[in-house]
Amino acid sequence: MSTLSSADWLDLLDSSRSLPPPLRACALLDGVWQAEPGWAASLPLGQRDRQLLELQQALFGPQLELLAECPRCGERLELALQVPDLMMPIQPQTSAEELTLELDGRTLRCRLPDSRDLWAAAQLAEEGQARALLMSRCLQAVDSRAEARAGDDALVALSDSALQTLSAALSAADPQAHTELALQCPACQHDWSEGFDIASYLLGALASWSERCLDQVHLLARAYGWSEAQVLALSPSRRARYLERVLA
Ligand SMILES: [Zn+2]
Repeated sequence: MSTLSSADWLDLLDSSRSLPPPLRACALLDGVWQAEPGWAASLPLGQRDRQLLELQQALFGPQLELLAECPRCGERLELALQVPDLMMPIQPQTSAEELTLELDGRTLRCRLPDSRDLWAAAQLAEEGQARALLMSRCLQAVDSRAEARAGDDALVALSDSALQTLSAALSAADPQAHTELALQCPACQHDWSEGFDIASYLLGALASWSERCLDQVHLLARAYGWSEAQVLALSPSRRARYLERVLA
């Protein structure tokens, strides 16, 4: 992981702004790892999320602060989570990035879904269609000698229940891709679970950081006549010391 300057981060956030959220988070990982564009988007979702959790921790520390609302009584909860608690043990089959299963008397070979698959499926409003598209993209081959039937044609022959089994098997093979928080309301003791998406969380944290950074540039540029590049070249602690003087 490379250490980017404040100016590099602002440029990276600007250049990724037109992308949809899941692909935007991937573009940040490409930038941090100085990888070819599209590298992080092709990672299985669990591997991508593990990288995003590590990036979140490197940039902002291990604590994540979240707000939740009890669906029964509306009580607002403030949650403090720790990044290491959200890291699942690495599964041998996840590192293989592919799984094979027997279904409807046939052998299916699938790869784990990545961010591009997720985004393609998110374009479809109907849940069944979205799942079918996701599975068709991930299906590599049906039967041992049937590589030619991979993709849509093979999928057409799968029943709805087989599709659901396939979907559940892919989820089970990549548990890091689905984080569910078990919550209990302190006011009414209602238990419920809520999904947590590190991509959205990190993008939100970076959006707040970039606003604070631009506020600092604005104040220091106005007070001292420095350019944006000159202000951003200062270390955060040096910037804070000048800001104390400006605001005193
Ligand atoms: Zn409640």
